[in-house]
Amino acid sequence: MKKHEDYITHINNSEDNVYLKSKHFPVNMRLFQTSPEYKNIILQQCNYIRELCLDVKEGYKKPHGMSSANAGLAFNIIKITKNRLQDNEYCKILINPRIVEYMGDLVETTSNCGSITLENSIKLKRSSEIIVNYFDEKGNEFVELFTRETGAFTIQHEVDHNLGILITDY
Ligand SMILES: [Zn+2]
Repeated sequence: MKKHEDYITHINNSEDNVYLKSKHFPVNMRLFQTSPEYKNIILQQCNYIRELCLDVKEGYKKPHGMSSANAGLAFNIIKITKNRLQDNEYCKILINPRIVEYMGDLVETTSNCGSITLENSIKLKRSSEIIVNYFDEKGNEFVELFTRETGAFTIQHEVDHNLGILITDY
């Protein structure tokens, strides 16, 4: 079986820190629309992140989400797993995700991270509802409400990653 650490960045590796502690670059959506070759590079990165998520590796359970920071890529792309561990499981990709509004209650939750692999999850507070601006893989722009049930906590974790923020920074 493939090993988690052979695919995912980790704070214990100094060469991985630039991915885990930097703000990621936005995908240039103008070039995405006009250059099929540029679009293809971005879609390959989306597919790579998708494969990393759905293919469980030794040393870590199947994640709820993933960021390009975890994958060692520099563009701002995240994904969340829908219907996790069910037959109809799939990855929803969000390109250039940006949380435009935090709503609902601040809820205490427990969190761990594939790039920190804490022995024990830590507690932190997340908004139960967020509005996210993002693009899908067809280049369509969305402004969508996510609740706790539809991935609000996971999206906050992954958006933080691509801003260079880790759960241990809270
Ligand atoms: Zn993480």
